[in-house]
Amino acid sequence: MHIEHAKMTDTINILAMERKALRHQHAKKDYLIARLRVRIASLEQLIPIPNHAPRDKSTVTCYECGVVGHYSNECPKKLAKTAPNAAAPGKSRF
Ligand SMILES: [Zn+2]
Repeated sequence: MHIEHAKMTDTINILAMERKALRHQHAKKDYLIARLRVRIASLEQLIPIPNHAPRDKSTVTCYECGVVGHYSNECPKKLAKTAPNAAAPGKSRF
């Protein structure tokens, strides 16, 4: 019975140690992830986000009038048509 008890205590001690080690690893992992997130955020500031990057307008064709060099939302013909409403801000932003 004494041996069994000693074994059980050993097992409990080992489990406690493993749990402690795991918790330490988790803390380390969280720390590394947090550091990586900061690094990623700083790197993202260096890389232009494609959607926000200015596109070469010389290659775009307006599907409003078919003229190369501007987007349909900048189309002079369309703007002339919608001129009375264009003054209202936020309308084109949808
Ligand atoms: Zn146009």
